Amino acid sequence: MNMQTTVTQTTSLYGSITETIGQTPIVRLNRIAPPGVEVFVKLEAFNPAGSVKDRFAIAAIEAAEANGALQPGQTVIEATSGNTGIGLAMVCAAKGYPLVVTMAENFSVERRKLMRFLGAKVVLTPASEKGSGMIAKAEELAAKHGWFLARQFENEANADMHARTTAREILNDFGGTGPDVFVTGFGTGGTLKGVSRVLRAESPETRIMVTEPDNVPILGSGIAQTRDADGRPSASHPMFRPHLMQGWSPDFIPKLAEDAQRAGVIDGFQPIAGQAALDVARDLARKEGIFCGISGGATVAAALELAKTAAPGTRILAMVPDTGERYMSTVLFDGIAETMSEDEMEISRSTEGYRFDAKGGAAAPAPAEPAKPEVTAQVEAIVAQEPVVMFALEWCEFCWSVRKLFAAAGIAYKTVDLDSVAYQDGNLGGEMRKVLRAQTGQPTIPQIYVGGQHIGGATETFDAFNDRSLWDMLEAAGVAFDRSMTENAYSFLPTWLHPR
Ligand code: PMP
Repeated sequence: MNMQTTVTQTTSLYGSITETIGQTPIVRLNRIAPPGVEVFVKLEAFNPAGSVKDRFAIAAIEAAEANGALQPGQTVIEATSGNTGIGLAMVCAAKGYPLVVTMAENFSVERRKLMRFLGAKVVLTPASEKGSGMIAKAEELAAKHGWFLARQFENEANADMHARTTAREILNDFGGTGPDVFVTGFGTGGTLKGVSRVLRAESPETRIMVTEPDNVPILGSGIAQTRDADGRPSASHPMFRPHLMQGWSPDFIPKLAEDAQRAGVIDGFQPIAGQAALDVARDLARKEGIFCGISGGATVAAALELAKTAAPGTRILAMVPDTGERYMSTVLFDGIAETMSEDEMEISRSTEGYRFDAKGGAAAPAPAEPAKPEVTAQVEAIVAQEPVVMFALEWCEFCWSVRKLFAAAGIAYKTVDLDSVAYQDGNLGGEMRKVLRAQTGQPTIPQIYVGGQHIGGATETFDAFNDRSLWDMLEAAGVAFDRSMTENAYSFLPTWLHPR
């Protein structure tokens, strides 16, 4: 393997974001695998919306477009632990379909926000109703509103896409013979069914190992899933328990996973404990520079477990389904602080400047410069005319905090954004800053005036709001506001600006 970093010239010009799905890299682990055995990871985070489920998203939509199940502009709906929803949100945004997602409330908050950012609607379902609950809700909504339901747990387009892309990529990258061992977990079983079908046919020597949370052996237990006449799961599987690996092992055996088991392509099971998944995800990050989610940590943990007893020279491939960035709010990031640790404080204190515990290197404010009389007149006119005025910077956090306070309290105000394009001509914004500096004695922005009277900056405005003196001034100036807004004004500051 080439040990030097190189840039390979490939085609990188695409007609749509959806064309960038697939062709994810397979990377060898160099520091955490045992000697003599090669462990590789297939990094599905390289898909455009950051997970393996982008593959299903484009496959489901294009299959439904082709067979007429999805009409132009029709709403798409799907039940998801998040990654399928994020992938569908990306595909639906690119193709112009509205998307509604149902998701149990226990999946990470990042997932909700990513889907909403991509324009989808997210309908949460109670965690107590498990995966089955979110699916039942999606079915109800699809039936009621005539929406297209993507049905990832049984849709053959899911497994077919993995047979067509993921499996081909693996065979191609391993030189046609495939790895000695392929390790995957399952959420729908799409990866498992599609990849194992092709590997079994074209690389029969490859052992296919399935990993599950150690407390949830729904497939490994061999206990069949009960199903109703339509083949739908009729009750939660008796071995189901809540578990850590978001995206894995729902409370029933999905049809696609059951198909793979029935086809006899599963050579064994490697159960993995939640703690091992977290430990390996952290090791991958810190010792390999590979940043992945919990199911990726779990799959690699299973691969490392298998590596312990593997013959020398064995090549093991583990699927790594998504990125760690959608787990910042979860237990994966427990112990990862926002504030500086004692160690970091010590590094900070090891030089004089830019510290939080001393003014050491802080530059003295620049001396006041003379203000132009015509600009002074302009500023005075604004202050005289406007009942509430804030001289602000467009993107300054303190200014935004004041804006949030005013919005919450229903206070109408004029904002003069000194750094905006409107105040660029002749450096009017800069000249106004000189006037404000001269008049208030303060070099900082924002500066707030009520009824022609100077209040001060953000801090003084928060204090005046909290001690109600601002209420009196607003009243005197005839400005309406919401007296029921009694929150601490400082709560509108971002946490990094909170007084220490
Ligand atoms: N890991 C994560 C984080 C997932 O979201 C999913 C899909 N729900 C999987 C693994 C499993 O993939 P598949 O649906 O192909 O079995």
